[in-house]
Amino acid sequence: MSPKPRARNQKPLSLSTRAIHGNKLYAYKGPVSLPIYQTSTYRFESSEDAVRYAKGDPNVYVYTRYHNPTVHDVEEKLALMEGSEAAALFSSGMAAITTAILAVCKSGDEIISTPALYGGTYRWMRDELPNRNIKTHFIDANRPEQIAKLANVNTRVLFLETPTNPTLDVVDIAACVLQARKTEKRIGKQIIVMMDNTFASILNQDPFALGVDVIVESATKYLGGHSDLLLGAAMGSAKFIKKAKGLLKHHGGSADPFAAYLLYRSLKTFELRVNKQNENALVLARALEKHPRVKRAIYPGLSSHPKHSLAKKQMSGFGGMVTIEVKSSKKLTPVEAAAKVCDNLKIAVNAMSLGGVETLVSIPVYSSHIFMSDEELARHGVTPGMIRISVGCEGAVDLIADFEQALEKI
Ligand code: PLP
Repeated sequence: MSPKPRARNQKPLSLSTRAIHGNKLYAYKGPVSLPIYQTSTYRFESSEDAVRYAKGDPNVYVYTRYHNPTVHDVEEKLALMEGSEAAALFSSGMAAITTAILAVCKSGDEIISTPALYGGTYRWMRDELPNRNIKTHFIDANRPEQIAKLANVNTRVLFLETPTNPTLDVVDIAACVLQARKTEKRIGKQIIVMMDNTFASILNQDPFALGVDVIVESATKYLGGHSDLLLGAAMGSAKFIKKAKGLLKHHGGSADPFAAYLLYRSLKTFELRVNKQNENALVLARALEKHPRVKRAIYPGLSSHPKHSLAKKQMSGFGGMVTIEVKSSKKLTPVEAAAKVCDNLKIAVNAMSLGGVETLVSIPVYSSHIFMSDEELARHGVTPGMIRISVGCEGAVDLIADFEQALEKI
């Protein structure tokens, strides 16, 4: 049974309702949960089905690299949650980012971005894109006017990430979009403003409301939320998503149906989890900011954050990521001090990812920002004494006590 569209004058449903029910707001007989179509291929009733598929009938499934009903259901839910016409699910966040960019950039095209990106994205732009004759200009995120200065007829994408990883700087999304739109008029071509919204997630930041065209995201993180799956997502216009899915078929970064099911399950508690992570992060950041062994605590929700007022303007919550810089001592270099704190934590887990219900810590110079020169680290604002904390859903008092006892060891 096809879903009944909601009447135009009805209030939009809240995020939690969309995340729990998707578009299944109509009576139908069937499972309450989503069936997992764990299959690589699909039986045809007759070869007529193959003909119907070739003619573009979306109801004929042929091969899971192309499409899968479980994956499709989750894509619909993501589009509904994030407020886009369409969404595509990928095997990882990197598959989503690279496929989305290559869907619109060809040899000779240019990208404008900021250096303070997830290390994997930055290294791909730095090391791989030049081999395809695609150039990336990295601008100072605090000077959006550089966008208009650098953009030219070859510019296809403005790629943003905020809050930044791991420095938690806040980039003024609306100011960057404005510069891109100004430039479009000058060059007579569209610039796709694409944003990695992994750190904030749609609960805390709505890039579409600020004029962004495409959201890309590592669904491995807050959307997944349990450190047990690897997926990526892209959200945007139906036209853009069709293009991205076309390339996805060729590059093969398709989502696995079981991982898609895990994501579907996680989305039901997305708002609960992320709200708790927001709360815990603020309480922990406030406690760590005062700790004598902490040189600096960075969290957009702290009034000491240099961009706190911008964060209040463009974010509806400050997220679950906190970064601290620990003080070194005569006996320990900054990175040794950071490692000692991580090694002495009992509740927080020393592991590289983020966004899960369990608190994770990592040292950026050993993880997201490995394989970068000192000059690049300085440009990204990453220092050896930094610890990136992905705050989970544990009891806040337990987390504070855990960090305090570990910091006592340096
Ligand atoms: N974007 C951000 C901000 C990330 O932190 C990561 C991974 O840590 C990615 C993208 C890549 O996602 P994935 O590991 O799912 O490929």
